[in-house]
Amino acid sequence: MQPTYACSACQWSGEENKFVTKILSIMYRSKHDNIQAFKQIKCPKCNNLVTIIFETLDGSVAK
Ligand SMILES: [Zn+2]
Repeated sequence: MQPTYACSACQWSGEENKFVTKILSIMYRSKHDNIQAFKQIKCPKCNNLVTIIFETLDGSVAK
């Protein structure tokens, strides 16, 4: 199940694909062969910053 987010300013809500996302920083950890990324989630309607999430991705995907 996908997590859902909600904008506190205009009540826009839904899954991540209904929001504007932007990668803030990426750290590649070669020891663990994965990637850690900070991702910003913004509301597409009022441009309010909804949340910042921390994601760990499998490093083999990005190669
Ligand atoms: Zn909003």
